[in-house]
Amino acid sequence: TGRSSRQPTGTPADSAMTDQKYDYDFFVIGGGSGGVRAARVAAQFGAKVALCELKLDAISTDTTGGMGGTCVLRGCIPKKFMVYAGDFEDEMKDAKGYGWSIPQKPTLNWKTFIGKKRQELERLSGLYKKNLESAGGHCFEGRGQIIDKHTIRVNEKDYKVKHICVATGGRPSKPPVEGKELAVVSDHVLDLDDLPKKMVIVGGGYIACEQACIFHSLGVETHFVFRQDYVLRGFDQECREFVQQQYGVHGMIMHPENSPAKIEKADGKLKVTFDPKKGDKWTLDGVDTVLMATGRHPLTSNIGLEEAGVKLDEKGGIVVDKHSKTSVDSIWSVGDVTNRIPLTPVARMEGMCLAHHLFGPKDSKTTTPDHDVVASVVFSTPNMASVGLSEEAAAQEIKDFEVFSSTFTPLKQSLSRKDVKCLTKLIVDSKSQKVVGVHMVGAEAAEIVQGLAAAIKAGITKHMLDITVGLHPTSAEEFVTMW
Ligand code: NDP
Repeated sequence: TGRSSRQPTGTPADSAMTDQKYDYDFFVIGGGSGGVRAARVAAQFGAKVALCELKLDAISTDTTGGMGGTCVLRGCIPKKFMVYAGDFEDEMKDAKGYGWSIPQKPTLNWKTFIGKKRQELERLSGLYKKNLESAGGHCFEGRGQIIDKHTIRVNEKDYKVKHICVATGGRPSKPPVEGKELAVVSDHVLDLDDLPKKMVIVGGGYIACEQACIFHSLGVETHFVFRQDYVLRGFDQECREFVQQQYGVHGMIMHPENSPAKIEKADGKLKVTFDPKKGDKWTLDGVDTVLMATGRHPLTSNIGLEEAGVKLDEKGGIVVDKHSKTSVDSIWSVGDVTNRIPLTPVARMEGMCLAHHLFGPKDSKTTTPDHDVVASVVFSTPNMASVGLSEEAAAQEIKDFEVFSSTFTPLKQSLSRKDVKCLTKLIVDSKSQKVVGVHMVGAEAAEIVQGLAAAIKAGITKHMLDITVGLHPTSAEEFVTMW
């Protein structure tokens, strides 16, 4: 959420020169990570820029907008605050191992936490607007509608625009379960007025793993329900098994190979019926909150896309080329709505590249987003961070590879909780000796894997890691001592 002080440099391309027949050179629909980045960089290049976003009425509802979009208001940032809130509980467990006595059970004042979180998110949302305006962009508060390939309607007024960028993001999806309207989605669960006592969390992806760990660490009786045998399908199998085993070590109640069949009201609470892969249906009573964390879909309706002739893919995402151009010449699209890699930093990269492509210097090197080797992290307890190929993907793609893997108790936990373990794993292409995959499950995995992602991008070999001197004693040094 910080702001780089570096300004775009170089001679703007001819396209940055404002064409008199247009009100704006660049009009962005959607004030999330991708849209704001595209707008701000374009404005810094001298383009006449406007962006429209709905008014922020409430942080958690799924009908209102707000500058900053999902990441700032209903995703990454509030989620990370909740992760931090839960981390203190883990720290207290370690503290006891070091001889601290904690006289009474510490309690979290949920209302204080939620209040402070809301305040900070409103500040950040305001900052997004301010930063765009400081760069010379104009912000409209209202819904943007594409009227034709060069016309946008916002607040009942039409504007002629040279380029349109659709950056409307995605929304959480609920599966067709009976009573699904009684369940909440991630937008709401990040902003509950009261902390539930008993929760059901459905799904085995990023959001479900993160939210299950957060609410478990906050002392909520959390039932984590997913339909596969292991969470996080698509990640390295050894890591999936390891992270799930560690959830168990932290005391999580898990119900693998189960799906909800019905949610109903009973005695002022919720009753959930589950349909397991094997065995009979079973129920859970007295549930306060059911979270459906079962994926997200691109937000493409009511913008005028179909009427303008913009093609969508079979999952409803906007089809774009390598420069983020849609099937219509003057309409571009970045972020989750394009269904490429639905991650904030990817949306930002796409937005920045688009601004460079349209308005940047002719010799700009950042006009095409690079979706290869993108790192990602699941902020569960423990973190699971990955970049590059999993062992299974390597078997498919390069066949001849080596795996280096190490499991250990981090030094911090060796006086407190010896069953808390960490996994570090490297996948190396045998022929080139290049590192093609880095995986870590453990505390601070995200902080550690970020640097290694840059190293992979730079083409690091296993030998280069071997001759790198470690920082001792750390968990990170495991990656340079895997001989
Ligand atoms: P994911 O696509 O990651 O996971 C969806 C999960 O829901 C899967 O486990 C899937 O199971 C399960 N599921 C789907 N349909 C059903 C159903 N009908 N019944 C039961 N289970 C079902 O989606 P998320 O909602 O977790 O996250 C959306 C996206 O947001 C992610 O892909 C990620 O890109 C982004 N995100 C990133 C974060 C980060 O970077 N830390 C944090 C949060 C979100 P199955 O595997 O069987 O299909």
